[in-house]
This record gives sequence, structure tokens and C-alpha cells, in this order.
Amino acid sequence: MASLAAARMPWRPATIVSMRLDTPRHNVLVLDVPGWPGHRPGQHADVLLTADDGYRAERSYSIAAPYDEPGRVELGITEVDGGEVSSYLVEDARAGDVIMIRGPVGGYFVWSARAARTPLQLVAGGSGVVPLRAIVRAWARAGRPVPARLFYSARSPVEAPYAAELIGLAVGSATRPPDPGQPAQLALTWTYTRHAPEGWTGYRGRVTPAMLAGATWPTDVQPDIYVCGPTDFVESVASTLADAGHEPDRIRTERFG
Ligand SMILES: Cc1cc2nc3c(=O)[nH]c(=O)nc-3n(C[C@H](O)[C@H](O)[C@H](O)COP(=O)(O)OP(=O)(O)OC[C@H]3O[C@@H](n4cnc5c(N)ncnc54)[C@H](O)[C@@H]3O)c2cc1C
Repeated sequence: MASLAAARMPWRPATIVSMRLDTPRHNVLVLDVPGWPGHRPGQHADVLLTADDGYRAERSYSIAAPYDEPGRVELGITEVDGGEVSSYLVEDARAGDVIMIRGPVGGYFVWSARAARTPLQLVAGGSGVVPLRAIVRAWARAGRPVPARLFYSARSPVEAPYAAELIGLAVGSATRPPDPGQPAQLALTWTYTRHAPEGWTGYRGRVTPAMLAGATWPTDVQPDIYVCGPTDFVESVASTLADAGHEPDRIRTERFG
């Protein structure tokens, strides 16, 4: 259900200016939205589709990139089996099509370079990487003001949206602590829940407390934590981190349902 704040925002026509499949099921849509007021990394938009017979379907999608060009909004949609809206946006949408969007929505799950004081911890489950990718890009553009870690749970390397880009932005590894003499790093750790590459020695399977302990910042550095993905993933990760001693008010969550 739309939040009250979102319900008061106007629907705006959004023209699809480009699309690219980042994985076989994840479509990156770049939209031109005249009048779009801008957005912060981590926020989302509501999308409204109307069929020829008048049937309407509304869903939320995180914004995948920081705001850097007037009217430009990038969304990343992972197709859900049998999903009404995601199937349309991945399989059927074409450049030039017009959809309706409103936003930006959400003022809590946002990251700001100016407010960044302590290390950044991101934890993504599947398509939950979308707003975290916007945060990583904003972090890189701001000159990597704090060291960052991303723990990314994906089905397999080919079903991990933005994997190549994130690997390109990462320096160092999660198993090697950041060198205080070097610029702040992004350390990237994966777990593959279905298919790991041949010879893979990293984590496999669903996220466990032991994985989180190994791949995330220790509690004494008091990281700012952002967790995003399916509801059960987010709840399990957030409660494990809180049980480990992270302050609950430093753990921001976004549930995709
Ligand atoms: C704040 C917010 C941000 C979101 N951001 C993104 C995003 O950036 N990218 C993205 O791909 N999705 C995102 N989602 C999820 C998105 O809103 C839809 O729920 C999703 O695309 C499925 O919609 P659908 O119409 O295709 O499926 P539906 O027709 O609604 O559902 C079809 C079937 O899929 C199941 N299902 C519904 N949603 C999910 C899901 N998320 N995962 C697994 N199974 C599901 C349903 O239970 C049902 O059985 C976000 C959700 C929220 C609340």
C-alpha cells in the first residue's frame, strides 16, 4: 500500500529512454521524467501501469542511481515468476514506452556523504542490491569518504545484478582489513544461494550468523548499516546484526515484500 506521503505526490509520465538486461532477469530502465524533483540515494519510486482495458497495477521500485541529470530516473527490475508488473517491465517494455511514476518516496533508507561519519555496511539479498548500488555510486562519487563493505547474497554469479560494476568499484577484499594509509575501500563479499562458480571457496547458501560475523564490520566500529531484500531476508539479517551487538537505530532496512 502506498504511504500517505507518496499518495499525495503527483503521477508523472516517464518515457523509457533506454533499457539493458544486466542479468537474464534484471532489466535496467532509464526514464526521462519531466518535472522530477530529484532524489537521494536509497529512495524509491512508485510505478503505475494501466492496461488497455483500464486495469491498473501499482508497485514500488528502488531508484538505482544517484540523481545526476535533470529528470533522469534509473530503475532496476528483477522479474519475479508469474509477476504481473515485473514481467511486463522486463519482458515487454520497450524504449519509447511511457509509464507513470511518482516519488521520490522514503526519507529513512537514505545515505548522505555529508552525514557519513563511520564505516558503511551494506547487506543485499537479490534485487535488494538496487538501492545499495545507488548508495555505492554516491559513495564513490563523493570520494569514498568512509570505508565500505557490501555483503551480497545472490542466487549465482549470473543472477547478481550490477556484479561487474560493483567488482570494478571494489578495492581490497573483505578478508583483508582496510589499510589506514590507503583511500577508503569497498570490500565485497558474496554468498551464492543456488550455484557457485567452479572452484568457489567463498560462502555458499543462505546468510547465516557466522557469515555475517565474517563479512561485516565488527560492532566496535559502529557502522551505518543498510539491509535490503525480501522481507524474511531483511528481518533475519537485521535481527542477527542486532543480536551481535549493533545498535538497532544504526540498522536501516528496506523490505521488498
Ligand atoms: C520499497 C520497495 C522497493 C522495491 N524495489 C524493487 C526494486 O528495486 N527492484 C525489484 O525488482 N523489485 C523491487 N520491489 C518489489 C516490487 O515492488 C514488486 O513486489 C515485484 O516486482 C513483484 O511485483 P509483480 O507485480 O511482478 O509480482 P506480483 O504479481 O505482485 O506477484 C507474483 C508472485 O510473486 C510473489 N512476489 C511478489 N513480490 C515478490 C518479490 N519482491 N520477491 C519474490 N516474490 C515476490 C507474490 O507473492 C506472487 O506469488 C520493491 C518493493 C518495495 C516495497
